[in-house]
Amino acid sequence: MECPLCQGRIDEKAFTKSHESYKFYPCPTCGAGFWWPLSGQSSDIYDLKGTNSVLGTTQESYFYRHNEEVLKLDEYHKPFFREGNMPKRPATLIDVGCAEGAFLRQAQKYFDVTGIDFDEHSVSVARKAGLSNVYCASLEQFARDNPGKKFDVVTFFEVLEHQQDPTGFVRGVKGILKDDGMIAGSVPLHMNPEPIALDGDLPPHHFLIFTKAGLRHFLEKMGFSEIEISEVFAGEQMRRASGVNTTLLKKAFFIKDNETSESSLRFRAYMQARKLARLSLPLVNAVFVPLRMMTKKKDIEKITEESKAQFIPMYFQAKRKGGSAGL
Ligand SMILES: [Zn+2]
Repeated sequence: MECPLCQGRIDEKAFTKSHESYKFYPCPTCGAGFWWPLSGQSSDIYDLKGTNSVLGTTQESYFYRHNEEVLKLDEYHKPFFREGNMPKRPATLIDVGCAEGAFLRQAQKYFDVTGIDFDEHSVSVARKAGLSNVYCASLEQFARDNPGKKFDVVTFFEVLEHQQDPTGFVRGVKGILKDDGMIAGSVPLHMNPEPIALDGDLPPHHFLIFTKAGLRHFLEKMGFSEIEISEVFAGEQMRRASGVNTTLLKKAFFIKDNETSESSLRFRAYMQARKLARLSLPLVNAVFVPLRMMTKKKDIEKITEESKAQFIPMYFQAKRKGGSAGL
C-alpha cells in the first residue's frame, strides 16, 4: 500500500494503532500519518458526534455551528487577515467547507466571496447572516456547475484532515484556483505522526494526521510554493472550550441534542438563557478557566503524554507554484 499524501511505500503490517475497523500508519517518507481504510465518512456523522471528550465541546458537530448566536471567527481564521494577504484590486475568494460563514463574513470586507458546504442547515444559517453566494455543494459539484470559474483565493479551514482522497481534493482546489492564486486553511497540528485519542481526531472524522513537516511536504508535492505554516495559540481554544455549559442548560430546558426547532417557545427560552449565560461569561471565565484547567489538566497531560501531541490547529497558506507574488 502507499501513503495517500506522498505515495511513499507503506508496510501493511507497520500500523501503530487501531480504532474500530481502522488501522493507523505513520508515514516514514513524508512524516504525516493516516488511517486505513480511507472510507466510511458521510455528512451525518457531524450531526451529533464529534464531541471532544476532554474539553467537553462539540467543535465539529453541526449543532454547535447552527446555534451560535454570534458568528465568531475562529482563531485559525485570524492569521489570514494580515495586510499582505488583502487584495489591492478586486479579487475573488471561495471558502470550501464554509459552515455557517463566520470566515466569509469577515472576508467579504476585502473579497468578492463565495462559499460551499455539504451541510444544508449550515448554508441556510450563512444565508440568513447575509451571505448570498453560499451553496450546498461539494467541490466537484461546484466545479461541474460552474465550468471555467476560477478564484484568486481558495480557502479550506479544518477540511483537509477529513479527506478520504487528499490529492484528489487538492487537485479539485487547483481546478478552481487561478494560475497566480493562493490557498489558505488550517489542520490540527500533531507534534508526531500519531493521532490523538479524542473522538474528534479519529476516523471517520479525521483520516489524516499532519505534522508541520508532513503538511509542508504534501503542499510542495501538490505544486505550491511560498508555503507558510504557523501554530495557532492554544489558550484561546481552551477559553472557548470553557464556554457556556450547554449540556446542563439543554437538560434544564428538555432540549434534545439534535433539536433545532427555533419556533418552539421552549427552544427560544433556552436560547435566551444561553445568551444570558454568554453575557456573563467573562466574569465566569475569570473563575472557571483556572479551575477547569486544574481539574482537566490530568486528562490533558495524559493525552499529551500518550501521543506527544497538542490539540491545537496550524494555519497554512501557499501560492500556486510559478505564480506571481501578491494578488
Ligand atoms: Zn507519506
